[in-house]
Amino acid sequence: MSDSKDRSLRSEREKLLGELSGLYGLIHGSYFERYSTCSRPGCACHQGKKHGPRAYVSRTLEGKPRQHYVPKGQVDAVRNGIGQYHRMLQIADRITEINLELMREGRLDEP
Ligand SMILES: [Zn+2]
Repeated sequence: MSDSKDRSLRSEREKLLGELSGLYGLIHGSYFERYSTCSRPGCACHQGKKHGPRAYVSRTLEGKPRQHYVPKGQVDAVRNGIGQYHRMLQIADRITEINLELMREGRLDEP
């Protein structure tokens, strides 16, 4: 590996690590909306006029799916956070490729 190739891999990795720190809003989960019925007897929701749509984010924790209600003002932030999670995975994959290249040259443990 040439020195310039080595430098360019390291500088790309540095940039990706910097980008990671901006993904502070990440959420590992999936977004969905649903209509629901409530517990009030006689409410129109039991006649087909269901409440909603309400937004939720679902995530699996220790093998169990959990649903979290998303307040109205937080929908964009949640959807953006889910995108950030996927970007984090892309970055981790690219850093892995870079590190494997450095490993083949025996240079992985060099800063
Ligand atoms: Zn109702």
